[in-house]
Amino acid sequence: MASQKYMFYKGIFLNPISDTKCDFYSQGLLVIKAGKVKNLLPYAKGLKKYSLEMTKANTKDFGHSLIMPAFFDMHFHWVQDDVREMPKDSLLEWLEKYTFPTETKYAKASYAKQKAKTFFKKLSAHGTIAGACYSSIHENALKIAMDEVKGDFVIGNVLMNMNSPKELTQTNEESLRLTKKLIKEYGTRHCFTPRFAITTTPEVMSKGSRLADKAKCFKQTHLSETPAEIDFVLSIYKKIPGFENVKSYTEIYEKTGMLGKRSLMGHGIHLNDKELKLLHKTKTTVIHCPTSNAPIKEKGLGSGLFNFKRLEKAKVSWALGSDIGGGPFLSMFDVIRSFVDQNKKKKISGATYIKGLNRCTLASAEIMGTAKHAGNFKKNKEANFIVVPLKKNIMPRNAEEALEKLIVSQKNLRKNYGAMVSHTCFKGEFIFKKK
Ligand SMILES: [Zn+2]
Repeated sequence: MASQKYMFYKGIFLNPISDTKCDFYSQGLLVIKAGKVKNLLPYAKGLKKYSLEMTKANTKDFGHSLIMPAFFDMHFHWVQDDVREMPKDSLLEWLEKYTFPTETKYAKASYAKQKAKTFFKKLSAHGTIAGACYSSIHENALKIAMDEVKGDFVIGNVLMNMNSPKELTQTNEESLRLTKKLIKEYGTRHCFTPRFAITTTPEVMSKGSRLADKAKCFKQTHLSETPAEIDFVLSIYKKIPGFENVKSYTEIYEKTGMLGKRSLMGHGIHLNDKELKLLHKTKTTVIHCPTSNAPIKEKGLGSGLFNFKRLEKAKVSWALGSDIGGGPFLSMFDVIRSFVDQNKKKKISGATYIKGLNRCTLASAEIMGTAKHAGNFKKNKEANFIVVPLKKNIMPRNAEEALEKLIVSQKNLRKNYGAMVSHTCFKGEFIFKKK
């Protein structure tokens, strides 16, 4: 139970407001009551205002640490933790060689349970407390994930009915029956998850979409990650009655009812103007996964650079995801770094660190429909935050500089991003404390 009394936290605060604005408090005080934010203000002012309430027992000074909203990861596969760093020559090859055999193991409940226990602890330790997650096809693995996850996530079992290994193939009836059952059991925590148009039949996508829409569940899948994938999709659907004339990947999802305001499309790198229009019209969101799309030498799949400016011009909403195992690391700091770096290398302006932070906090909450109670430190929102100790010689003067210095200081050892968070707080309770 969250305490009904005040708690006070002191540190250097970052409070994302938009892509271009992030409030910065070089010495700030966060006031919490019953798991909710009551105030965030400069420390000196806070001291005056709350001096009667502040005691040694209810006040914690995090010293030279950054405190910011905890992360959303809007696209990741918890069952791919073991293939994050496997060789990635191409998407379709990597799926067949490493990913599918790994996901097959999750059929066994004891294996899934043991994996879930370590994975979801690790997720909290990385400061991620919300988002959208893919599980394997197996009912048991999904239920285990639902039990073990800490935070506010939607999770879906991937649906695979064609062009998949035998042991990962369900009939249409099996997929639809399971969808119905899981929606009944988990309500809006369930996310309708056709793996992608290659492996999921139009019948499952259409009928399942209707079930998900009726229950107001989120839907997620992959869209236009690589040119080879797009060619393969179109070659398959050319032979499917009713789809002979589809011109694009997005159109397939439109025809099967997969687009909409609760739809999250992973990647969306190679989209034409008509597809962007369709995404805008249907209020569909694209989830950008820069570390997964990054060149192979940077441990990504080399899928290409996501043109965020083009999406914004077409008024298509987007947020950030790690896409592990396509992405190599769970840390959203690594994802922000990759977003900034890849754009900088191509001399594309506007990809700032505060934009990156906004896209995996407040902007993600807006997409998930939870911005009223999550995403930043606005009054009465849930106290969901992370604490990240800063090196002593880093004295930031604003939010952009704070994030840049923090992220660049670890750049050459990407694995270190996973160890940066010292505390993760969800609804006022610490779900992770570094030992
Ligand atoms: Zn993915």
